[in-house]
Amino acid sequence: MIDFNRPHLTGNEVLYMNQAVENGHLSGNGEFSKKCQQFFQDRYGFKKCLLTTSGTDALEMCAMLCDLKPGDEVIIPSYTFVSTALAFLREGAKVVFADSMKRNPNLDAEAIEALITPRTKVIVPVHYAGVACDMDKIMEIANRHNLLVVEDAAQALDSYHRSPSTGEKRPLGGLGHLGAMSFHETKNITAGGEGGLLVVNDERFIRRAEILWEKGTNRAEFFRGAVNKYGWVDMGSSFLPAEINAAFLWAQLENLDDIQEKRKALWNKYYELLKPLADKGFFQLPDIPEYATNNAHIFYLVCRNLEERTNLIKYLKEHDIQAVFHYLSLHSSEFYRNKHDGRELPECDRYMDTLVRLPLFYDLEIEEVERICKTICNFCNHL
Ligand SMILES: *Cc1c(COP(=O)(O)O)cnc(C)c1O
Repeated sequence: MIDFNRPHLTGNEVLYMNQAVENGHLSGNGEFSKKCQQFFQDRYGFKKCLLTTSGTDALEMCAMLCDLKPGDEVIIPSYTFVSTALAFLREGAKVVFADSMKRNPNLDAEAIEALITPRTKVIVPVHYAGVACDMDKIMEIANRHNLLVVEDAAQALDSYHRSPSTGEKRPLGGLGHLGAMSFHETKNITAGGEGGLLVVNDERFIRRAEILWEKGTNRAEFFRGAVNKYGWVDMGSSFLPAEINAAFLWAQLENLDDIQEKRKALWNKYYELLKPLADKGFFQLPDIPEYATNNAHIFYLVCRNLEERTNLIKYLKEHDIQAVFHYLSLHSSEFYRNKHDGRELPECDRYMDTLVRLPLFYDLEIEEVERICKTICNFCNHL
């Protein structure tokens, strides 16, 4: 069986976890946490990074930092993971779902303007499959309407946006006011199963981010010697991960370039072998716009209809290949459909019915990609 995903060990994970134990500091914000956070700040130029226990937690911190009032509106794509919406909903905001683009599942920037009301406070672009949303357009709209932008960069580690107007290349997660990343075991790198990162780009949020992170206390300032005692100063929760998880993540970060290179080689092989079938119109391949780069997080196909996708997944399974669909539209979910304003989001529903993800993980072999593509070719020959 070729699994859809298998977590990859780079070799030093257990060694570093042992070191964390020997250091005698097991709770959060220890040596490994600081090394990981510094890594992101140095490599990507992010202003302030804080490790979190999950991408969901990083999104929750973003939502708390937006300081929303009941009835404030947040624009979110419907084709995304539950956490993107949940983080804002639990802050009392009204979630306004937006449709995806025809060319790829990302938020349609052209459709945002029509959703803005006097209550709109935040736009949340999700960089699906690690491919940038149209951030020039989104930031321009946000600036004009004085809105915050929170990037759900959960899938977007080591991927970039290149501005067509200025040519400037900037890492995803670093363009909005705040960003969230995930190190869940299904992402390109993992913090031992669960983990995340809050990225603060707007300096106004740094102090409060540290306080929310440390259960509403000014403990971080105390340890820096900035205040002589610490206490309860704000809202907060326990968002910081244990050192064991940071140690695991550090081993993965040390091998990030190797991981990315291997994933891209597999992704490119899929693209090359499946392009002829896409050209014949059997399905749509992943689209990387001129303003985006590829971090090889997901390789997906968009089938022509639900029936063909169902049959393709079944056919692959019969040939010992595990392929999976992805999101169910959040606006039509059991939990939200009665709260949704009734607008149809046809592109989002199309991806819900027709998108299929193929196996992609570090330890997958090029020969396995070839076998998967051959199997898909045989399937198409029977259509
Ligand atoms: C994975 C993911 C999340 C949640 O991250 P966790 O670390 O699993 O909590 C949120 N948004 C998107 C788009 C994701 O892919």
